[in-house]
Amino acid sequence: MRRLVLLGGGHAHVQVVRAFAASAPSDTSVTLISATRLTPYSGMLPGLIAGHYTRAEAYIDLAALCEAASVRFIEQEVSALDVERKQLEATTGDLHAYDILSLDTGSTTPLDRVPGAAAHAIAVKPVDGFLEAIERLQADLRHRPSMAIGLVGAGAAGIEVILALAHRFHTNTPREHRLTLHLITDSDAILEEFPQSVRRYAADALHDRGIVVHTGARAANIDAGSIDLANGIRIPVDYAIFVTGAAPASMYERAGLRTDDRGFVLVNACLQSLSHPDVFACGDVATVPEHPRPKAGVFAVRQGPPLANNLRRALAGLPLEPFVPQRNYLVLLSTGRKHAIATRNGRTLQGNWVWRLKDWIDRRFVGGFDPQRIRRGK
Ligand SMILES: Cc1cc2nc3c(=O)[nH]c(=O)nc-3n(C[C@H](O)[C@H](O)[C@H](O)COP(=O)(O)OP(=O)(O)OC[C@H]3O[C@@H](n4cnc5c(N)ncnc54)[C@H](O)[C@@H]3O)c2cc1C
Repeated sequence: MRRLVLLGGGHAHVQVVRAFAASAPSDTSVTLISATRLTPYSGMLPGLIAGHYTRAEAYIDLAALCEAASVRFIEQEVSALDVERKQLEATTGDLHAYDILSLDTGSTTPLDRVPGAAAHAIAVKPVDGFLEAIERLQADLRHRPSMAIGLVGAGAAGIEVILALAHRFHTNTPREHRLTLHLITDSDAILEEFPQSVRRYAADALHDRGIVVHTGARAANIDAGSIDLANGIRIPVDYAIFVTGAAPASMYERAGLRTDDRGFVLVNACLQSLSHPDVFACGDVATVPEHPRPKAGVFAVRQGPPLANNLRRALAGLPLEPFVPQRNYLVLLSTGRKHAIATRNGRTLQGNWVWRLKDWIDRRFVGGFDPQRIRRGK
């Protein structure tokens, strides 16, 4: 019996589990280890923050999924990997041995790059911690006549989060409360990697919500009452939120896996570690030098089926098959209310109907992991 361990219930691993429900690899015990039983679907996060979705709608239940697929599920956070002994160590002290290991543990928000951020800022990831912090912030807002919030990061996630927060707070707090939202970025423009048309639509949405945008503004220090910019300007805020891109867990570099200069696990086009052939990695935690792509959920989703195929092939001792991710893909950005911007190949559209399309796509994805449907499909 070979032991396949899937670490992290990310967007690719849920598809591997589902694929194994339909046809399990022979003579293999499959275990999924993840820090939490429920895992959020990134596409629905802004809608969850805005209040359009409940947690039940936006999360996948890993335990129920694994049960339907006859995969063992362990709810534990892993803190160390020993690639020589081929075992993982959980924070509980439990050890988990593997013959083949696959990593889909995502990324966290880097707080260590700005002094004071680790002590005073709220990170968007891990998502559960963020949602709890937002609940506390909202409760605090109810008791104050005014509040200022600064959000650092104006990439796609930063824009979606600040617009979602604006929608949530404007909907749930009395009119007389004065809330000021600041969007802060060191880039010269918001959404730097997007076409001008997307930036314009997003800027309109920010303007409509009265969000104050600071471009060319590098956050240099965070303290309990302000965000200090490198240009000397001090923005007084009651809360600072960081949505500043992706950072990997340090345990992979520590374990001796080959990583890129940021610490993400380097894999070939078959999603296999460049240094350890019995380790696979996908989603945010992996970097594929042959096909560099942004750290986005859409790529983790696309990697699911080829990862399942290559794990099967590795277990059977068959040659692996390379996967080439798409270069052009549809990006859907929600703007707080039930409205969204769509862009692909330089063409941009927006409207309430774009939100409905996004809602349909996202619900369909999460609905695909309904344990009852999986059992019926077996
Ligand atoms: C607000 C926001 C909105 C976003 N919207 C989009 C979007 O619309 N489209 C898009 O493409 N991308 C979006 N992204 C980016 C997206 O969240 C990530 O790219 C995506 O979640 C990565 O998926 P993944 O499979 O790599 O890992 P994740 O989905 O992050 O899953 C990782 C899993 O591993 C578990 N885990 C982590 N560490 C450990 C450990 N040590 N031990 C055990 N388990 C562990 C976690 O609990 C989690 O279940 C958004 C990000 C944010 C912050």
